[in-house]
Amino acid sequence: REAKAQIPTYKGLENFQLIEKMGDGAFSNVYKAIDLTTQKSVAVKVVRKYELTASQRANILKEVQIMRQTHHPAIVKLLSFSESPEHYFLVLELMEGGELFHQIVKLTYFSENLSRHIILQVAQGIRYLHEERGVVHRDIKPENLLFERIPILPSKQSVHRPYDEEKEDEGEFIPGVGGGGIGRVKIADFGLSKVVWNEETMTPCGTVGYTAPEIVKDERYSKSVDMWALGCVLYTLLCGFPPFYDESISVLTEKVARGYYTFLSPWWDDISGSAKDLIQHLLCVDPAQRYTIDEFLAHPWCNAAPAPPPPPT
Ligand code: ADP
Ligand code: MG
Repeated sequence: REAKAQIPTYKGLENFQLIEKMGDGAFSNVYKAIDLTTQKSVAVKVVRKYELTASQRANILKEVQIMRQTHHPAIVKLLSFSESPEHYFLVLELMEGGELFHQIVKLTYFSENLSRHIILQVAQGIRYLHEERGVVHRDIKPENLLFERIPILPSKQSVHRPYDEEKEDEGEFIPGVGGGGIGRVKIADFGLSKVVWNEETMTPCGTVGYTAPEIVKDERYSKSVDMWALGCVLYTLLCGFPPFYDESISVLTEKVARGYYTFLSPWWDDISGSAKDLIQHLLCVDPAQRYTIDEFLAHPWCNAAPAPPPPPT
């Protein structure tokens, strides 16, 4: 067992007590922390400025600006932002349960009902971004989908029943037995996100009159990158491995470019035709043919079972 890593102190972050590291990225560390002014638990994303180029710095500020304007139960909240000469500090709503990625690794794969429960929350977040904010996330993946608290996952055989708020309060929220102890899933990491549509007029940003057709088309289809990624996440939830994989990056790139994937036997044998149909409409190479978020949400698979009511905020 690795020794508890040293928790650094950061100049400019005196109002927070860092407790433990929750994750890291190329230029950032994310810590669980206590906000000493409110005594509340939060997450703090510390970004090292000195390693960033000017455009990367601008991207952080864009990430902050986009997060400030997003208010949805399926999107991680930005509580505050500050900076010191050396760092940016993003104070975020704490997601105790960590990455969906780790849960997939633990459980191998999710039942169709549990996959639906998770993917519908993610999809509602994407719907909000695409339709209400004109924002494309561009980095939807299991590492950026976080559980609000540590989920109690069912065994593979168990039947998922609708979420039961009261049972959860009693602490007996075993999904498939008592309720949906899977809780809330939220979208994090707006580091690559972009505003592409004017949210009032729902037209491309910028003056359309002089914009080249490929740009107009690009902006029209830019949302479809999130839909592809949503298809990859759903595929992975259902079988435990991603739709596109190869040891060699060049082979993998080629597979993605051609949209070459299969519903590999025996893993996919018992998964419904409806789920496969939905995935086929997402992992579709032509962005014009790919489902939009509204088409996704209207698909029979998404409406197959009564969706459990969302857990309390
Ligand atoms: P990067 O741009 O470096 O990928 P992220 O914002 O994705 O930064 O954060 C990196 C990791 O830190 C995430 O994958 C997750 O494990 C953890 N993390 C991020 N935000 C939170 C949060 N609000 N609560 C808990 N863990 C978080
Ligand atoms: Mg990330």
